[in-house]
Amino acid sequence: MDFPRVVISKETLRPPAFEKDVQNIEFREDPLTGRRCRMNARRAERIRQSRTSSVPAELSQKKEGCPFCPENIDRAVPRFDPELYSGGRIRRGECWLFPNVFPLASYHVAATLCTAHFLDLHEFRVGMVADCLMAAREFLQAVRNYDTRARYPILLWNHLSPSAASMIHPHAQVLVDMRPTPYQDILLGSSRAYYDRTGRSFWNELVDEERRLGERYIGENESVVALASFAPQGNREVQVIFKDTSSLTDLDDRQIEDFAECVVRLLKAYKGMGVNSFNMSTFSGPMGETLGYYALHAKLISRPVLEPFYRNDTGILERFHGEADIDVMPEAFARRARESWER
Ligand SMILES: [Zn+2]
Repeated sequence: MDFPRVVISKETLRPPAFEKDVQNIEFREDPLTGRRCRMNARRAERIRQSRTSSVPAELSQKKEGCPFCPENIDRAVPRFDPELYSGGRIRRGECWLFPNVFPLASYHVAATLCTAHFLDLHEFRVGMVADCLMAAREFLQAVRNYDTRARYPILLWNHLSPSAASMIHPHAQVLVDMRPTPYQDILLGSSRAYYDRTGRSFWNELVDEERRLGERYIGENESVVALASFAPQGNREVQVIFKDTSSLTDLDDRQIEDFAECVVRLLKAYKGMGVNSFNMSTFSGPMGETLGYYALHAKLISRPVLEPFYRNDTGILERFHGEADIDVMPEAFARRARESWER
């Protein structure tokens, strides 16, 4: 498998003595999609003291009127149309799953992860994440029974405002549409083309190759493998790849629990690096189809630490040029995440 990269050296004359200073800029391409990123290896390798990442109390403790808190939720969140789901809301453990008040998809729900108004990254438990995924699976089943045209599901989880989450209270969202997002479309098309060209699944090859190389491999359990991405689109990007499934609707309880266990380990690793905000999204094949050339996977990226006057990590190169500007070398990140995983 090819991991395309080009490294260029740039000299600057740095004050105060204006001595020659050489820095490398590394340009990488994703081995499947060709999506590009660039990083300055020296910025990235710089050891930074993990700052304390406690979220300001005026945010984490100010819960008055939060519609997701247990004292409000029953009267504050919508109910399902009984034709889609007859039980009002889907409930499982601490999770409530219900229609999004301001939908942005053909079917769009929010799902609380816990009854606590705020949790830090190391406080999420496997059962919370698993219950939320099982509730999502039940919702997806209801959508399938109701509308066979809705085929492309996404489960996403934004945590704290640097990730663009609008609510502090931990929650995930599930969207289902008739057609895939542009990136999902590229993933499915490139995976299919890779299979047609080589007769093998890109995803199996990637996992084998990254296991062999070791430098971006983080860890695995029976159902999923966690890898740092070679050419990430965000800092500390991890791919959690299912070994045996192409669609979010096909997961059994064991796979969901293994996935949840992996995510909880990764959030603990993020916490150890001073991260407190992140995005997670699944990338699923269509519901009701088993694709041999595709693997269901999720990606997580860290977002800027929520603190007063934080700097946004998504700039002009990402917004207008489709090229990520990465601060953290994937191999350096994987090393630290692996230590945390093994602990
Ligand atoms: Zn709340």
